[in-house]
Amino acid sequence: MRVYKEQKLQKMYCNNCGKSIEIKNSIIIEGVFTVDYRWGYFSEKDGKKHSFDLCEKCYDEITKKFKYNVEEREYTEFFNS
Ligand SMILES: [Zn+2]
Repeated sequence: MRVYKEQKLQKMYCNNCGKSIEIKNSIIIEGVFTVDYRWGYFSEKDGKKHSFDLCEKCYDEITKKFKYNVEEREYTEFFNS
């Protein structure tokens, strides 16, 4: 859950446990799992967009309950100078 003031991110909370996510100068400075999902035609939520944020601890607890593990791959970030 995000609180904006003049389009700048002011506060952010984990939707599951309510923990305050650390933010410095509108930048998120801790691990957070953000979902911004548009439901499609075959869903009962067609036309709706759902968004939420989870702290890393809640993400771990929720995904631990999955029958099949989250797929994990390494990735490299490329920075253009
Ligand atoms: Zn949480």
